[in-house]
Amino acid sequence: MARLGMLLALSLALSARGVAICACDPSHPETLAARNCSLCREAEKQPPGVHVFFLKDINPAKPHRWLALPRSHEHSLAAMSAEERAIFWAAAIAKARELFPDGDWALALNGPQVVTQCHLHVHIGHLMEGVETDNFVTVTKPEEIPVPKGEGLWIHPQGNLFHVHLGEQITETVLLR
Ligand SMILES: [Zn+2]
Ligand SMILES: [Zn+2]
Ligand SMILES: [Zn+2]
Repeated sequence: MARLGMLLALSLALSARGVAICACDPSHPETLAARNCSLCREAEKQPPGVHVFFLKDINPAKPHRWLALPRSHEHSLAAMSAEERAIFWAAAIAKARELFPDGDWALALNGPQVVTQCHLHVHIGHLMEGVETDNFVTVTKPEEIPVPKGEGLWIHPQGNLFHVHLGEQITETVLLR
């Protein structure tokens, strides 16, 4: 029930804010000034040669939440090569393991209908209890994580394996604040 309440609150907040639509071009920094492009500006601050970087969630109500982001200006996983996706997921999983050594972490990618920031970002946090669903595939390594098609996904460890849950738009509600 807690998740349902958060889903409703989040969908109201998202419908009020609208979905990320922008025409940003990193070679023209002035085009990154839009609010939807603030993560693009964070990416530009990273040194060259970095493939993946991490930001602590700036929302004080979410003190244990982080974001994993590619340094390159990706808007979707589908636009990346299989190798880039594997590097990205491996780095995000390594960061989650470092932050939550007890193994009770999850990664959450919101779907394109609800995302408000144009730059690809995955939420890292504590997995809430009682959110398990039947709509998942089991993978053994980052290379096997499927590419979402018009949907979000969330990932959590299951023994030595990972569950990848598909078919939802609002996924970050599986994470504790
Ligand atoms: Zn943008
Ligand atoms: Zn960007
Ligand atoms: Zn699961």
